[in-house]
Amino acid sequence: MTNPALARSRYAEVTTLFEWTADQLGLEEEVRLLLRRPYRELHVEVPVRMDDGSLRVFPGYRVQHNGARGPYKGGVRFHPEADLDEVRTLAALMTWKCALVDLPFGGAKGGVQCDPTSMSAAELNRLTRRYTQNISYILGINRDIPAPDMGTNAQIMAWMMDAYGQRYGYTPGIVTGKPTELGGSPEREAATGRGVVLTLLELCADTGRSPQSSKLAIQGYGNVGSWTARLAVEAGFSVVAISDVSAAIYNGLGIDVAALDEHVRQGGQLADAPGVDTISRDHILSLPCDILIPAAIGDVITEKNCDDVRAPVIIEAANHPLTAEADEALVERGSTVVPDILANAGGVTVSYFEWVQNIQQFRWESQRVTSELAKIMTTAYRSVRDAAAADGLTLRQAAYKIAVSRVAQAIKLRGFV
Ligand code: NAD
Repeated sequence: MTNPALARSRYAEVTTLFEWTADQLGLEEEVRLLLRRPYRELHVEVPVRMDDGSLRVFPGYRVQHNGARGPYKGGVRFHPEADLDEVRTLAALMTWKCALVDLPFGGAKGGVQCDPTSMSAAELNRLTRRYTQNISYILGINRDIPAPDMGTNAQIMAWMMDAYGQRYGYTPGIVTGKPTELGGSPEREAATGRGVVLTLLELCADTGRSPQSSKLAIQGYGNVGSWTARLAVEAGFSVVAISDVSAAIYNGLGIDVAALDEHVRQGGQLADAPGVDTISRDHILSLPCDILIPAAIGDVITEKNCDDVRAPVIIEAANHPLTAEADEALVERGSTVVPDILANAGGVTVSYFEWVQNIQQFRWESQRVTSELAKIMTTAYRSVRDAAAADGLTLRQAAYKIAVSRVAQAIKLRGFV
């Protein structure tokens, strides 16, 4: 990629990368026309009666980016900054991610602009049901299948499934990331973190780096960050720093992640965890460590702070944690950046397994889920690594080349152009 133009929005950034890839692949203009903008965007207003009797109305979105390779697939985010540009960007990333790991899905994303941390369970239940009803016209087990993302979880997926079922009949496969009691897949909760660690292990094997001598810093301690930390420790890595929205903690000898989990389970905060020092929240990005794993929100490493990043390897567990400018500057400096569409694809992969199990009405065992996940993640990593080496590309450029060419091929085969 040569100096992409300054982005006007996050969606413009992923479009710039798409155009670069399309040039590399020599894609016809008609195919580009179909891939430049999302296929369908739905904006809904979501009225919710709050516990104090007042009425609030939250903006909600569902964007279906491209469905050439299969039903639309992508998570739902509850976050104060979830807006159309963000949801559109994340939907595009899902198209490329599903294609890269070769799942029979297109890409979508949903979001509600709200702060779930300040809402009661009853308010969240009402919000989820109303949002689901409002977007239900474009969902379907063979049309569009939501999943959890930031601010949503298995409980919210259960409410979505129930709300959809009230209108259309019992349909467990309408969402993935459900509780296992309702047809969720074993190992779905850990899947994104597991995929991150599988990718990390492959990268270490390639570069002669041993897990035992690698120090990790992880931004975010939600689903993705906490599972990455647990499984990284299990694989022999030392996790020296962890942050969440409230604080960051550090122990140069390695944080006792099991003790931290127990502390958090008992209602403790990161900042008062035992056996750690606290550091300022965003200092985690500039700590001297071997591998930095942003696993929280987007756009945390930008042209303003990328010079401060000291880790030579960055694994994008979050979606779009690096701006295009930061990515280019870091790569120019010789850093290795494993792109989001590869690093965090474990979640959608096990979502795919969940959907398959729901359709077949047959439950897989944990061991089958983890071994099939390992196969898919390893194959995807190696294909990206080999394409990057063969064509002198960054891992991100190689990943986009593989993904865009697969979607373009599906478009042509289906006769859209
Ligand atoms: P989550 O809501 O479970 O956790 C988010 C975490 O980020 C929390 O610990 C929160 O405190 C922390 N956080 C928020 N703002 C922060 C800040 N400024 N600094 C440090 N920490 C901050 O969300 P999640 O499901 O773990 O998702 C995290 C990221 O991974 C998102 O970018 C999401 O799109 C991406 N992702 C998630 C999945 C999945 O399966 N859940 C799959 C693929 C990608």
